Amino acid sequence: MNAEILAVGHELLMGEIVDTNSSYIAQQLAGTGIDVQWMSHIGDDIGHLSDAFKRGIERSDIVISTGGLGPTSDDLTREAVARAVGEEMAVDPDTLAWLEGVFTRRGMEMPRTNVKQATLIPSATSIPNPNGTAPGWWVEKNGRHIVILPGPPREIGQIWEQTVGPRLAEMSGAGVISTRTLKTYGLSEGRMDELLSDLFGRENPYLGIYAHADGIHLRMIGRGPSRSAADKAIEPVESEIRQRIGDIIWGTDDDTPARRAGTLLVERGQTLGVLEGASAGALAAMLHARPERESFFRGALVPGSGPVHAGHEPASVDSNGAIILAQLARESLTADIGLSVTPVTSETGATSAGGVFIGMASDAGTHVATGQFPRRNAEWVMQRSATMAIVELLSALSSNRI
Ligand code: AMP
Ligand code: MG
Repeated sequence: MNAEILAVGHELLMGEIVDTNSSYIAQQLAGTGIDVQWMSHIGDDIGHLSDAFKRGIERSDIVISTGGLGPTSDDLTREAVARAVGEEMAVDPDTLAWLEGVFTRRGMEMPRTNVKQATLIPSATSIPNPNGTAPGWWVEKNGRHIVILPGPPREIGQIWEQTVGPRLAEMSGAGVISTRTLKTYGLSEGRMDELLSDLFGRENPYLGIYAHADGIHLRMIGRGPSRSAADKAIEPVESEIRQRIGDIIWGTDDDTPARRAGTLLVERGQTLGVLEGASAGALAAMLHARPERESFFRGALVPGSGPVHAGHEPASVDSNGAIILAQLARESLTADIGLSVTPVTSETGATSAGGVFIGMASDAGTHVATGQFPRRNAEWVMQRSATMAIVELLSALSSNRI
C-alpha cells in the first residue's frame, strides 16, 4: 500500500512556516508499513489543489492532506477534493450540530462562515477533531482514499491517534504497533550504525536511528496481531542492542535527561548543586521542573558579568578550572555532587563561540567533559549545554567516575 502527502497553504510556499505536518504524517505512516512515495507543497489555489488530488488518486492508494480547512474563503481544500472526485458539497446536519455546540461551549455565536466546516460530500465521512473547529474528511472512492486534515499540528496529533492511525493500521494489515526507544550518549551516529549494522533494514521490528540534543535515539517499531505480539517482536532486538551498547544507554521511551537524573540521584540518596556560566539558568530550570527536586536539587549559581570563578584564579577556564567550579558549586550549595557548565575561554578571557567545559566533583572523584556547539543564537547554546551537562552527569554516575 502506498500513500502521498499534500501540505496545503500559501504560507508554506512563502517560506513563512515550516512544514512539520508532512514529516509527522510520514513518520506515522512508516510505522504503519505504508510507503510514502510523494510529498508536495501546494498553495491555496482551487485549480492547483484539485489537480493535485486528481493526480494523487491516480497514482497512490491513499492521499493525505493537511491545511486549508479553515472557515475563510482562502481555505479551499474541501472544495478542491469535491471537484477532484466530481461531487457536490452539502451541509451535514450532525457535524453542524456538533460545531454549533463547540461555539456555544466557548460562549460565542457561530459565525456564518464556519458553516462550510460542517460540509461533506457523498463519499466522505467526517473525521472528528477534538481540538478545533475543522473536522477532517475521509473520502473513499473507487478503492482509493483521500484523507484531509486541518493544518494546526496540535490538532493533527490527536486526530491521528484517535481515528486516522488505527484505521490505516487496520487497512494496511499492520495490526498493532508497539514502539521502544533507547536513548544513548557518547557515540556518533556513524559509529552506532557500524556496531548495529546487521540490525538495521529489518521489517519487524523496524530499527531507526535519530540524532537528538540528548544523544542518539534508537527506535524500534514492532508489529503483530496483538499488543503482546508486537512487544515480542521488539524483545530480541532490544536485548541484542543492550548486550552490545548497554553501557551507553541512559534512558528509554519518554525519559528525559532531567527525569533520569532526578530518579538516579534520589535512588542514590545524593544531592546536586550546579554552577552554570554557559547555560545561564537553563540547567536549573530543567532540574527545578522535576517534582522530586526537593530530594536532590540544592540549587544553582548563575554568574553574570565578571569572573565566573568567583575568587578562584586562573583567568582562563581550562579543564582544571571546570573542576574548581564544580567544587565551588558543591561547597557553596552544600551538595554531594557539584556540576559546572562553563564557556571555554581563551588566554585573553574572551569566550570562544560554542565551546563548553562540564566539570563534576564528588567524594568519589572528579570528571571533565567538553562540548562544542555550532555557532547559533545564545538561547540555543544555553539549552544545548544544559542538556549536555545532564547527559554527561548521567554518564559519569553510571560509570562510577564521580
Ligand atoms: P490552515 O488549516 O491552512 O488554515 O492552517 C492553519 C495553521 O496550521 C497555519 O496557520 C499554520 O500555523 C499551521 N499549519 C498549516 N499547515 C502546516 C504544516 N504543513 N506544517 C505545520 N503547520 C502547519
Ligand atoms: Mg490555510
